[in-house]
Amino acid sequence: MAIDYSESVLAKPVRKKRRNRVRSKRTRSIHRMKLDLDAIARTEVFERDGNKCIHCPNSDRSIQWAHVLSRRHLCLRWEADNAMTLCAGCHLFWHHEPAMAVDWFIKNFGERWERIRRIHLVNPKISVRELWLERCARSSSDL
Ligand SMILES: [Zn+2]
Repeated sequence: MAIDYSESVLAKPVRKKRRNRVRSKRTRSIHRMKLDLDAIARTEVFERDGNKCIHCPNSDRSIQWAHVLSRRHLCLRWEADNAMTLCAGCHLFWHHEPAMAVDWFIKNFGERWERIRRIHLVNPKISVRELWLERCARSSSDL
């Protein structure tokens, strides 16, 4: 049965698009900045969660960076409260059974759910360049 995402704030599974168009240097560099920010956020979330799936912490399956609300919302993409460490199986569960998944998240992380819902409602504009400068400066001073 097809899932209707039109009324939902939940993540719709992302289909990869073909990218044939030529990007400008500026676009390409913002794309790279997003990848840098992704790498930093992913590492921070894995560390916070002890490098284990938070849904089935006793398994030894490989881990993935997963989002509660879709990372296509830039205001939530690098927000630690919106990210979690899941194994591939639990990540699939997250996208295939979104209602059950969110129910589980709210029961276990109610305060985080309230914070990300508030950010989602306000939907603040994000400057990738400014965020990249801020986060990279922070991580290099941490070295
Ligand atoms: Zn799992």
